[in-house]
Amino acid sequence: MFCRNCGKELTGSPEICLNCGAKPMNGTSFCHSCGAPTTPLTEICIKCGAKAAGDISPKSRLATTLLAFFLGNFGAHRFYLGKNGTAVVMLLLSIAGWSTIWVFGIGLVFLIPVGIWAFVDFIFAVIGRMKDKEGKVILKW
Ligand SMILES: [Zn+2]
Ligand SMILES: [Zn+2]
Repeated sequence: MFCRNCGKELTGSPEICLNCGAKPMNGTSFCHSCGAPTTPLTEICIKCGAKAAGDISPKSRLATTLLAFFLGNFGAHRFYLGKNGTAVVMLLLSIAGWSTIWVFGIGLVFLIPVGIWAFVDFIFAVIGRMKDKEGKVILKW
């Protein structure tokens, strides 16, 4: 990749650019994929067609997908993405649901919505529409 701040080519996806000290994906001056100059308004690189990546999350799409699938009801994927507020809501809904499911199935009132919510998050993660707490899209597998 290329540092989006200074345009230097970097190996791998380092957190900090060794050349300029900025976070490589936080800049807006260069394409992360081919190093061509971009502007803050660039959405698609005109040279290589890459999506200007200022809004791509460093979080793993695979981890998000798996967490949403297996532990989504408990908000695990949202904790992972730093969305602690909604994660806690999902966790509490699940706890409320499982602790009242034995009382005439009242728990389903909580479990069905949180199940649908987790499933929607799972779909969003799979198709690359899920976002982290900073609003960056989870695209990298
Ligand atoms: Zn740099
Ligand atoms: Zn490019």
